Amino acid sequence: MIVTIDGPAGSGKSTAARGLSQRLGFEFLDTGAMYRCVALAVLQRDIDPADEQAVVDVSRQIRISFSESHVILDGADVTQAIRTAAVTDAASQVAQYPAVREALVYLQRQAAEGVDIVSEGRDQGTVVFPNAFCKFFLIADPEERARRRYDEMQAQDKKITLEEILQQIYQRDQRDESRTVAPLKPADDAVEINTSCLTIDEVLDQLEQTVRD
Ligand code: C5P
Repeated sequence: MIVTIDGPAGSGKSTAARGLSQRLGFEFLDTGAMYRCVALAVLQRDIDPADEQAVVDVSRQIRISFSESHVILDGADVTQAIRTAAVTDAASQVAQYPAVREALVYLQRQAAEGVDIVSEGRDQGTVVFPNAFCKFFLIADPEERARRRYDEMQAQDKKITLEEILQQIYQRDQRDESRTVAPLKPADDAVEINTSCLTIDEVLDQLEQTVRD
């Protein structure tokens, strides 16, 4: 059984997807982490993310795996390294390339073979698992999404203003929504939830109830 959760950055989908997978006893797949791994590998090799062919080559060379809640790239634990601002920006650039998406979509479908899974990303309900049992699309007001990210950054002692984060969010949304391959949009049969005024438990209750109904 496959449950998909898509939505823009900061909509709360990662926390919701992880929590829902725990409630249901399903596996959890963070597909954004896979694009981030490609981006990190590109930056580590001093490749320009704008160099499509070089990025595609890298995406075919690397090995990405998950161990508990850790992300492993070519044998190294990159759980923290893929969360930097540089990787975040490069991830949305490399995600525009059709051949990169093709390679990662193949891995995502492989990960879902024979298991119950909650898969989270931008295109899980539209492209990767069009026949998923249940699809969700989470949204939140941009200011609320920026505030959540700001709180995370403060907790990590990162120096950035709320306004800068809001600008980054707008830029990333614009890139994700306007790309020609798998643009960010809800599947026709997705249940849309605005998480702006909801606590994580309220979001999880709604998700769980919808899956179980
Ligand atoms: O969700 P997260 O912020 O970790 O995703 C990083 C980037 O990867 C996004 O900005 C988006 O461009 C890309 N992505 C994607 N398709 C997915 C998951 C993430 O294009 N399924």
